[in-house]
Amino acid sequence: MSAAITAADGGLRVLLLDEQAQPGGQIYRNVGARLATHSWLGKDYASGLRLLDALAQSGVTVQSGATVWRVDSGPRVVWSQNGISQVTTASHILLASGAQERPVPFPGWTLPGVMTAGAAQILMKTAGMLPKDAVLAGSGPLLYLVAAQMIDAGCPPKALVETQTPRMMLRAFPHLPKALLSAGTLLKGLRLIGKIRAAGVRRYKGASSFAATSDDSGMINFSFRSKGRLENLTCAVLLTHQGVILSTHMSRAAGITHEWNAAQVAFQPSCDIWGATDRPGLHVAGDGAGIGGAEAACAAGTLAALDILRASGHISANTRNQRAATARATLFRTRAIRPFLDAAYAPPAEILSPPDQTIICRCEDVTARAIRQGMSEGAAGHRQIKSSLRAGMGPCQGRMCDSTVRGILSAGNTSRMGDIAPPRARTPIKPITFGEMAALTTHSEDTA
Ligand SMILES: Cc1cc2nc3c(=O)[nH]c(=O)nc-3n(C[C@H](O)[C@H](O)[C@H](O)COP(=O)(O)OP(=O)(O)OC[C@H]3O[C@@H](n4cnc5c(N)ncnc54)[C@H](O)[C@@H]3O)c2cc1C
Repeated sequence: MSAAITAADGGLRVLLLDEQAQPGGQIYRNVGARLATHSWLGKDYASGLRLLDALAQSGVTVQSGATVWRVDSGPRVVWSQNGISQVTTASHILLASGAQERPVPFPGWTLPGVMTAGAAQILMKTAGMLPKDAVLAGSGPLLYLVAAQMIDAGCPPKALVETQTPRMMLRAFPHLPKALLSAGTLLKGLRLIGKIRAAGVRRYKGASSFAATSDDSGMINFSFRSKGRLENLTCAVLLTHQGVILSTHMSRAAGITHEWNAAQVAFQPSCDIWGATDRPGLHVAGDGAGIGGAEAACAAGTLAALDILRASGHISANTRNQRAATARATLFRTRAIRPFLDAAYAPPAEILSPPDQTIICRCEDVTARAIRQGMSEGAAGHRQIKSSLRAGMGPCQGRMCDSTVRGILSAGNTSRMGDIAPPRARTPIKPITFGEMAALTTHSEDTA
């Protein structure tokens, strides 16, 4: 949204394609509906209205419910809306596909009632639905945020089960001085933790060995180890979270080079400070170019749009540089906290390479045991695991299993995760019907 506003303001015709029903992205999802229930979600959420209003006045053509399923350098984009696909060519395309939660696989994670904290937050944002009698488990700032939002909504979590260990905090500690540049964000985090404490939510630290079962009544029995003891909690809903990872299907399918980000345990598209990639006409910005949070995403979007304005001759390089100063400073400040957060809330080894009985590919029911068996028979990379076991071939196209398959391959081969090439993302990156492909209409637009 930030990029589209800047580009339109600079004189470009802009088409914004978003598969959501309303503009807002992940953080400001459905903010435009101004539901009374949204008061639980806090001031940061409400601040999205400013961006939404600016977008509405910007002259940008917004197509909601528009799913991009192919991007080519050239550049052109193929997208689907209401069952009809069309091709749009443009002089520049900015990919800002955002992030998804890291899958949190453990025995029982596929049971009804077990979902991610972000998924529960989506229900809160879009339908005012509250997760009642819920336990929150995992780690990361979003876990605290959702806990605080639940408290404000009058349904505090029964317990907070955290996988964070003192060793992770020790590893994070050297990054603290730099993180102080983002003191506001640190304070926000401390306030969330203060709210959770004040609400008397029971907290378990250093938790491991997650397992869930359900009984005839549909209640979930959640077991884990904490401080050497086996603990058991019964709840109606179990919400898990282990941070977010980039959504890279679009950038990988477009052929952009990706590099391993060891701190974030994920691949990210390679780009310069303006978000320009090695594919002509394709820029990237926001969490889909590297996890940095909403403020960083806005700043990166502005920088990409300024560079596109320069590349299309609307402004000079000097003007671009001058107008980029504030956004660059914001990016520097907001990114300063990342090394601290990445080290403090690193995903535990057992989530990256879970026990044998865990289902890894939910679409095709492939277990960790099957993947390890495949490795013992010679499978050494994503491609062999995919073609022999179908892991990653279901409708989610690997979004729920790729990162875990990589963890299991790495643990089994004792190779570094970054040395295992990312799986090829293929068009269509979102499922569409053959009928829709066959009926594809082509038209060109001179947009940015
Ligand atoms: C589940 C979840 C909940 C979060 N909640 C919060 C929160 O409450 N507070 C907070 O500070 N941060 C939150 N974050 C982090 C925050 O969302 C991001 O930092 C921020 O939204 C990044 O902005 P972005 O524009 O890069 O991506 P996003 O806001 O994620 O926007 C990406 C957009 O791309 C669209 N898109 C993706 N693929 C396609 C496609 N193929 N075709 C068409 N459109 C597509 C999506 O629909 C989305 O609207 C959350 C992240 C996740 C994953």
